[in-house]
Amino acid sequence: MSATTEGADPSILTPVLSAPWDDEQPWRLATYLRHDGYRGLGKALAKHQDEVIQTVKDAGLRGRGGAGFPTGMKWGFIPQGDGNPHYLVVNADESEPGTCKDIPLMYANPHVLVEGIVIAAYAIRSNHAFIYLRGEVVPVLRRLQEAVKEAYEAGYLGRNILGSGFDLELTVHAGAGAYICGEETALLDSLEGRRGQPRLRPPFPAVAGLYASPTCVNNVESIASVPAIMHKGVDWFRGFGSEKSPGFTLYSLSGHVKRPGQYEAPLGVTLRQLLDLAGGVREGHRIKFWTPGGSSTPMFTDEHLDVPLDYEGVGAAGSMLGTKALQIFDDTVCVVRAVLRWTEFYAHESCGKCTPCREGTYWLVQILERLEKGEGTEADLETLLDVADNINGKSFCALGDGAASPIFSSLKYFRDEYVAHLAQRGCPFDPAASTVWA
Ligand code: NAD
Ligand code: SF4
Repeated sequence: MSATTEGADPSILTPVLSAPWDDEQPWRLATYLRHDGYRGLGKALAKHQDEVIQTVKDAGLRGRGGAGFPTGMKWGFIPQGDGNPHYLVVNADESEPGTCKDIPLMYANPHVLVEGIVIAAYAIRSNHAFIYLRGEVVPVLRRLQEAVKEAYEAGYLGRNILGSGFDLELTVHAGAGAYICGEETALLDSLEGRRGQPRLRPPFPAVAGLYASPTCVNNVESIASVPAIMHKGVDWFRGFGSEKSPGFTLYSLSGHVKRPGQYEAPLGVTLRQLLDLAGGVREGHRIKFWTPGGSSTPMFTDEHLDVPLDYEGVGAAGSMLGTKALQIFDDTVCVVRAVLRWTEFYAHESCGKCTPCREGTYWLVQILERLEKGEGTEADLETLLDVADNINGKSFCALGDGAASPIFSSLKYFRDEYVAHLAQRGCPFDPAASTVWA
């Protein structure tokens, strides 16, 4: 399952999470144990809970779900000694367009997630954890259920884990396939059996989350990174990446690259380096635009190939690292059509709770459709910006901002292409020439 590196410099690859992926049956407990599996758990259970949290803080692990919030700090928000139940909820509802790292990670190596969950639950003093999985990925659901069963049988879950006195129940829950249920509070509503719609924050889940109790919601990759930190230590983890964005991560490369897939490398590598591993773009073509972290993050162009892919580097260049979903589009792709497709997705997935997003995404689609067909006017470009501006920062949750983002960035870099649609009264691109948007 790991990426091919033939003919390229593989030295930037840091296979930690993906290390067992090419082994026979990597999802089995026996395979995971051969890769130092559950050794981090043994070390964590030997420490005081506060020490475990401090270790994750010192490592500087930042949430891998998109926002980059410091994981140890989030754990530290859970009140201690309050007498309330605490919950750990793993957000496995990976749905951001282009993002395909958590699903393969859980499919190939579910035990690294289970081990991370036990460590995290111990640290925040939770005795019940949940994995909220995107419902469509039934094979992953089965793998997780099998791994959880193996972990119970081996004494890594259940009562008195490894003789430590710590008890943990782990429930795997499959959602029904709504993008909004990846938003942490909508996820909690869905987990409680209600229609998934975002809640007002604050209070953040750390204060009032699942069943109104203190809850840590963490992304799959964030939790899966914890066992190695516990086993190999803070200095080892900080040996990868940069001061403010330490560690390694899974980058998902898709679109017009010769070898799409997941590439595990330190934070701060560049797309140019990753492209070298992925075989570059199709013969005779060049990169036109790409997303650093899924469609919700402002797009980049071929001028940004050397931007360090960490939170600070991507932020300074005007976008966000997000989910590290690098979607690559070559010069055969019409940017207006690409933005239309993304916007249709946001309009379809809008939960309808707030007016700017519910109504605005509908109108964005109408305008983009007109423009793409060459039936728009110069005034439509201003209306497009105006509608996006009335969604951005004025919606109830991040979905609205995500929908506005490709509108702003495509007009920033490719306004000429929108204008070309007006001048030619139609799309100047041949959809059949693109393998992505045909
Ligand atoms: P956010 O920055 O508002 O919050 C990030 C996390 O930090 C949350 O868990 C939140 O509870 C916690 N937090 C923030 N401030 C806090 C405080 N003062 N006290 C306690 N906890 C606090 O981001 P968000 O709206 O949760 O998520 C947006 C991100 O989601 C985007 O960056 C996007 O990239 C990502 N995203 C990911 C996917 C996916 O499939 N993985 C899909 C859509 C969006
Ligand atoms: Fe729902 Fe969109 Fe409003 Fe979020 S921004 S609450 S998805 S309508």
